[in-house]
Amino acid sequence: MSYMVLARRWRPQRFSDLIGQDVVVRTLQNSLKNNQMAHAYLLSGIRGTGKTTIARLLAMVVNCQQPDHGEPCGQCTPCTSIATGSNLDVQEMDAASHTGVDDIREILDGVRYPPSTLQYKVYIIDEAHMLSKSAFNALLKTLEEPPARVLFLLATTEAEKLPITVRSRCQRFDLRRLGSDEISHYLAQVLGEEKVAYEAEALHAIAHAADGSVRDALSLTERVLAYGGDTLSSEHVRHALGLVGPDIIRRLSDAVLCGNAQAAIDALRDASGGGHAPRSILLGMSELWHDLACMMVDADLLQHEPGEVARAWLTDRLNCWDTQALDLRYQVLIQGLRDLMLVDERQAANMLLIRLCSLNGISPPRRMPELDLSAPTRQQENPVQDSPRAESRPVEPLIQAVATDKHQPDAQASPAIPAAASLPAKAETEPELTTTQQPAAYASWEEAVEAYGKVRAGVAALLEHVLCLGFGDKVRLALDTHQERAIVAAERMSFAEWLGREIHWEPKADQQGESLSAQRARQAEARQQQLEKSAEDDPHVQALKQAFDAKIEAVRAPGAAGTDEGDDIPLEEEVS
Ligand SMILES: [Zn+2]
Repeated sequence: MSYMVLARRWRPQRFSDLIGQDVVVRTLQNSLKNNQMAHAYLLSGIRGTGKTTIARLLAMVVNCQQPDHGEPCGQCTPCTSIATGSNLDVQEMDAASHTGVDDIREILDGVRYPPSTLQYKVYIIDEAHMLSKSAFNALLKTLEEPPARVLFLLATTEAEKLPITVRSRCQRFDLRRLGSDEISHYLAQVLGEEKVAYEAEALHAIAHAADGSVRDALSLTERVLAYGGDTLSSEHVRHALGLVGPDIIRRLSDAVLCGNAQAAIDALRDASGGGHAPRSILLGMSELWHDLACMMVDADLLQHEPGEVARAWLTDRLNCWDTQALDLRYQVLIQGLRDLMLVDERQAANMLLIRLCSLNGISPPRRMPELDLSAPTRQQENPVQDSPRAESRPVEPLIQAVATDKHQPDAQASPAIPAAASLPAKAETEPELTTTQQPAAYASWEEAVEAYGKVRAGVAALLEHVLCLGFGDKVRLALDTHQERAIVAAERMSFAEWLGREIHWEPKADQQGESLSAQRARQAEARQQQLEKSAEDDPHVQALKQAFDAKIEAVRAPGAAGTDEGDDIPLEEEVS
């Protein structure tokens, strides 16, 4: 059996063979029955949904000698001659390759003459939006004064590109994009009649790749059968169509959820090793997350029936994130996908995964799934339940690139995470901690507080006023009574965990030293004094003072409040 003809063999011969376009078909058949046919129709919809098929069937049924309940008989001379494309009264034109005014004039020339053998002359213009402006004008004239017994059928994938004057003279039908499930069912029917064995999951994969187009689904099926022989298996589909396996995408997603950047990059590398572009792998993850979000809101929102394994996986992950946390990651992922084309795709993909993993710092999951690190290249040494933490590599707080003020309070206000079996027991008392962020080697107290400002801005602002007595393996901090109350125990523990050093919190007595804010104030004061001194010493200022008997009222640094924009002199004096 040759599969190369599948799409042609299954081209609908009757309106009832069409799938998913019932409303359009019924409306057309009713107007036919009631003799209320318009003289021009505009059929719009994505590729492969049946626009030209409907146009040809319409050409047949209006000319058929024995139409049956709005269906062409398919046997009479008009029907067969139209079906084979040999009847000169039915003109088909592809506007994509014939855009000019001469092309349209050529076919419109015949409009003046009545049909020679048929009841109606039919003009089918495919991809009508591609016509040039002058071609549209020529067409418009004919549409304005339509001759009798002429039918215009315009098909387009982009109806909005047609001039409004043309659109308004056509009766318009929008063909709908088919759901994955409809296409799967249709493929099952086709393959059943073709006596080809198939796996349900394979049909889902093809239907998904066809993206709403029946014709694409049939062509893709042909391709897979040409590759894999007489059966249609998921594996054949993946290989023939170059699709990424769902298992590796689920593995990648779990690694991201656990904040394990190393495992995530490994999963990406394994998938890329199969010849897949990082972009398509990450797109697969975005689709998986979309499915997960649908399941969270309402399982009926899923546009396809996931296989058994996929459904079990999705169900298990439902309580790992809330919709907000999932959406945050989805946004970062989509944004990152846009950047992939700017630099080396692999590099950008790795960076994106690290960024996604670091999101656990501001938006920790409620529960972590067990990470399967035994997959292809990873050697599993630790018990699985310890893996998220044990396998973690330090993740620099890249979140500064994505963390916004909007998320900050959310992270702080997030309710306690239910302790999960896969987390160390310690997590129970430190619900808000990231489990993946490890201390970076901050050289100074100032650096550490500045970095923490991107994690917990509020706490960092308080810490700026705290006196740091020592910053080594152990950190000594002195708190006054106000700070003792303001920085609560949980926040102290969070900070210590984040910093990765032991912290001694001491009451402030008469220790020597100054806090970061005091240090900053002192430095600002010193700069101001320096400014004023150089102003006093400036010969021009002295000359001004003498000439006008003036005194210096204030000296401001360039760029400080009250300074004129674009001022390029180093000092400014207000003289009175
Ligand atoms: Zn017929």
